[in-house]
Amino acid sequence: MKRAKGNVLTNSDLSRYRRQILYPSFGWQGQEKLKRSHVVVAGLGGLGTSASIYLACAGMGHITLVDCDRVELSNLNRQILYWDEDIGEEKPFSAARKLAKLNPSIKISPLLERITQGNVRGIIMRADVVIDGMDNFETRFILNSACVAERIPFIHGGVNGLIGEVTTIIPGETACFACIFPEAPKNKGVIPVFGMAPALIATLQVMEVVKLLTGFGNLLTNRMLYIDGEGMEFTIANLAKNPECRVCGGSES
Ligand SMILES: [Zn+2]
Repeated sequence: MKRAKGNVLTNSDLSRYRRQILYPSFGWQGQEKLKRSHVVVAGLGGLGTSASIYLACAGMGHITLVDCDRVELSNLNRQILYWDEDIGEEKPFSAARKLAKLNPSIKISPLLERITQGNVRGIIMRADVVIDGMDNFETRFILNSACVAERIPFIHGGVNGLIGEVTTIIPGETACFACIFPEAPKNKGVIPVFGMAPALIATLQVMEVVKLLTGFGNLLTNRMLYIDGEGMEFTIANLAKNPECRVCGGSES
């Protein structure tokens, strides 16, 4: 196997990621790009925990994990980085500890914070991409506005029961989250969720991240993929910028 000029990848990296480096449109160049990349996982629930496992496996060089909650028993059916013994622990630190064992060669930054208008820019500023692991629209709107302002791609995911959705938002190129959802839908309170739904959506989010960062394949840009686990149907809806969008104004740049 050819080594990169800058020797960014170690022998251990070449071994750990061998099976994905073999993928022709990815190769060691793709692996190097991942190693140099920084992903922010915003929210460490069902989506964020599943996504961060696959980000760590894939060799993302730096992962920032953001959440403000502690682990509860009722989280364990879907938030797979937390185990029974972790109940009461702060989520970012519990998650970081597991991920460091899974892949000690990457940098993991746990951040125990509630994402607000005031701190969001500081949290996402140096990220190459942000993963939406939230369970509420208010914080998604905050993240979307900051991602549009900083021109950072935002991979939206959402679940309810056995259904889910995912789309890739690239500021200046695609519809933003506020183009797609001009207003938050009515709050339904605590929604039912099976663990399989966020697991599926989260792996799709990471698949988008890997392709986006390394530049191959087709992305879910201006397209929303809907999964329906009960009917076992996967459908895609085309999305468009809203020229009256309060966040991006539907603008090209
Ligand atoms: Zn917009």
